[in-house]
Amino acid sequence: MSVLIAGGGIAGLSLGLTLHQIGVPFHIYESAAQLRPMGVGINLQPNAVRELFDLGLEAELERIGIRTRQLGFYSKFGKTIWEEPRGLEAGYAWPQYSVHRGALQMMLYHALVARAGADCITTDARAVGFDQTASGADLILADGSRKSGTLVLAADGIHSALRQQMYPDEGAPIWNGRILWRATTKGAPWKGGASMAMIGHDSLRMVAYPISRPDAEGLATLNWIAEKSFDPTSPWKKEDWNRAADINDFIGDFEDWKFDWIDVPGLIHGAEVVYEYPMVDRDPLPQWGFGAVTLMGDAAHPTYPVGSNGASQAILDARVIGASMLSHGVTPKALAAYETEVRPLATGIGQTNRAGKGPDAVLQQVEDLCGGEFTSIDDVIPSGDLAAHAARYKSISGFSIEDLNARPETIKAGARLTG
Ligand SMILES: Cc1cc2nc3c(=O)[nH]c(=O)nc-3n(C[C@H](O)[C@H](O)[C@H](O)COP(=O)(O)OP(=O)(O)OC[C@H]3O[C@@H](n4cnc5c(N)ncnc54)[C@H](O)[C@@H]3O)c2cc1C
Repeated sequence: MSVLIAGGGIAGLSLGLTLHQIGVPFHIYESAAQLRPMGVGINLQPNAVRELFDLGLEAELERIGIRTRQLGFYSKFGKTIWEEPRGLEAGYAWPQYSVHRGALQMMLYHALVARAGADCITTDARAVGFDQTASGADLILADGSRKSGTLVLAADGIHSALRQQMYPDEGAPIWNGRILWRATTKGAPWKGGASMAMIGHDSLRMVAYPISRPDAEGLATLNWIAEKSFDPTSPWKKEDWNRAADINDFIGDFEDWKFDWIDVPGLIHGAEVVYEYPMVDRDPLPQWGFGAVTLMGDAAHPTYPVGSNGASQAILDARVIGASMLSHGVTPKALAAYETEVRPLATGIGQTNRAGKGPDAVLQQVEDLCGGEFTSIDDVIPSGDLAAHAARYKSISGFSIEDLNARPETIKAGARLTG
């Protein structure tokens, strides 16, 4: 009995840790020659943090990230539309973390190697396909070798080779006309030092949040994403998380965004390297699992990075797969149970983000109603409506405060698969 995992990103490593916890043999095949801390900042919602705590990674998370205490939405003139507490401050039993994606991936990797041994993962091993077999499924690697497993999990990201085998006519991810420029800059954080800010509207936006505690001089690592809309029919460069960009492509649009609490052009100028990424997702799939093979993480449900859900959902997938195996064994039935539980939720998140109904929808609403200039936000949108909108998205994303706090743990401490 063995589970083969294609991809050692956030999803694949979280699944490895989960399977090790419950006593299921597994092996990860990762295409990169070496795991390196790639990417910039991401957020982990309390529902995913809970799972990492249950995996015994509380101290490690505390070391690499900071607890996000506030989320705020601001007009293009820096005026406050809506601010809400996050994590413990909001009443969750678990914090929300802002972390560097690369630091998170390396933390998961080191924890996995410490627990399961270095030989649980093979790097420089690109999966190209799968075959169903009498005893489960084979994972086919680029060097032509075949690895036989009881189940195969595709955690190979937005360009998943296994998804392509399942849906050969699907084509490339779909671009919505927006380009994201992402980077980190050393600087003084704002509004208490653990606050995520979304400023602007649909066609021009800045999202920024610290991902480290301030140093002795009061400077933290600030993660930021500048976003601009283009004609979606214009040519665009294929998505690549690591493509460096030139700030002259967008700095001019943000030159006036200097407010008494944040200096947006200063943030942009202070970055060493800026990465460019088109806002892409894929259509939801009608089916993730085929026999002994299924999809997880971005391979299953790539969505726009607007509601801080990508990494959180990947971690939750891993935990639900583990829980399903505890109920149904290492069987296709477990994969089906996982899909039944998670696919509707993931589809809902993707569609909500795509429809512009994410938590950031209030930005465009305010732009439409008053061009971002107001004396009191209550004259533009009643605060009750803003509160209801924020609560609705949390509920769609599976992290409404009351539900999460009341929900039993996904995998009980000490649970092991026997027999
Ligand atoms: C290099 C990189 C940088 C990123 N930076 C950011 C960021 O800055 N901000 C953000 O919001 N999200 C970023 N992401 C995406 C984010 O990590 C995911 O949206 C989310 O965490 C879901 O994780 P995942 O494990 O499903 O996918 P990913 O994190 O994309 O992991 C997929 C893994 O599979 C490996 N892989 C790909 N193809 C194959 C194959 N054929 N065979 C074997 N292995 C394969 C990849 O090398 C990677 O390690 C980045 C992803 C990558 C790969």
